[in-house]
Amino acid sequence: MRKIQMVDTKNQYLAIKDQVDASIQEVLESAAYINGKAVKDFGQHLATYLKAEYVIPCANGTDALQIAMMALGLQPGDEVITPSFTYIATTEVVALLGLTPVFVDVDPITYCMDIESLKLAITPKTKAIVPVHLYGHAAPMEEIMEIAKANNLFVIEDNAQAIGCDYTFSNGVTKKTGTIGHIGATSFYPSKNLGAFGDGGALFTNDKVLADKMAMIANHGQSERYYHDVVGCNSRLDSIQAAILDIKLQQLDKYNQARQAVAKYYNEAFASIPQIVTPAIAKYSTHVFHQYTMQLNGVDRDKFIAHLLAKEIPCMIYYPVPGHLQKMFGEGKYTNLNLPVTNSLTAVVCSLPIHTEMDNEQLNYITAGVKSFFN
Ligand SMILES: *Cc1c(COP(=O)(O)O)cnc(C)c1O
Repeated sequence: MRKIQMVDTKNQYLAIKDQVDASIQEVLESAAYINGKAVKDFGQHLATYLKAEYVIPCANGTDALQIAMMALGLQPGDEVITPSFTYIATTEVVALLGLTPVFVDVDPITYCMDIESLKLAITPKTKAIVPVHLYGHAAPMEEIMEIAKANNLFVIEDNAQAIGCDYTFSNGVTKKTGTIGHIGATSFYPSKNLGAFGDGGALFTNDKVLADKMAMIANHGQSERYYHDVVGCNSRLDSIQAAILDIKLQQLDKYNQARQAVAKYYNEAFASIPQIVTPAIAKYSTHVFHQYTMQLNGVDRDKFIAHLLAKEIPCMIYYPVPGHLQKMFGEGKYTNLNLPVTNSLTAVVCSLPIHTEMDNEQLNYITAGVKSFFN
């Protein structure tokens, strides 16, 4: 049996090696390493895939979130509402820009932003909402957009874990996550569903003014070469990464289907174990399973993890410490914040290996290993 890994980017590469190698070679020979044709082509292809008007590639997903907040003109002291139960990048950039992160709770079923918690968090200082499509499942965008509209707030979707996920509105209209809010931000970190062989990120929007502003900010605030209108940053997607991503984009739906097949296998295998809560999918969303995250109820999680690791089955906790309890936001500052679902999920979640290259032998071994803990 092949060694089990949380993600297997090596074998994913080998399956498309010839195409990827040729595309890299083309960039090498073109010598257009920065902002080359490959970057423009990939941006266009991604826009077509997402049905987004504009895609602005950038250096990574964290930068994408930062550029989005800069483009919206958010000012120090403005409040930005985000879930605490997310990867740190979402909330870190809020603090980095001198904005005030306002942490809200998540829904215990979808792990995404809780609507009641969001409503309660809005103050006159609130300027933006940053929902996260966590683990590959959409946040409840229809309600979020209604609340944003009623309160005149911007919405930036953190789509780093959900590229390819579909959101269906109550009127039957379906859109890709990341294209519903004012801006969508994503990451091409190698382990993401659409992963580069290095860092990468992108912004999506249907608003031309925002698109131009974000492109400008990502490029030193430049409108014309050496004319800098606003303070920006230097955040570019390398041509080599864009060339690789362009090849992998053609595989994205297949990759997401492979992840869904793994999740289905796990769900079926664990259905009879009452201590395991398998991931649920809301009616409005598909699930692209960036992670397969289950809840372990009435289980000593440390013992469970040790049991799996002894069998060389890797597993991870995403995330062991929620944002509001991270030292970076001021030790003890948010300790009294009432986020019961976030706090309880942190103690019970456990993610199993999920990627595009898993075979039945591995899946059978993993599920048998999990089941043997409960026997
Ligand atoms: C990966 C990730 C990011 C950051 O992306 P980078 O490319 O690593 O900067 C932001 N938000 C979420 C939810 C992520 O999973």
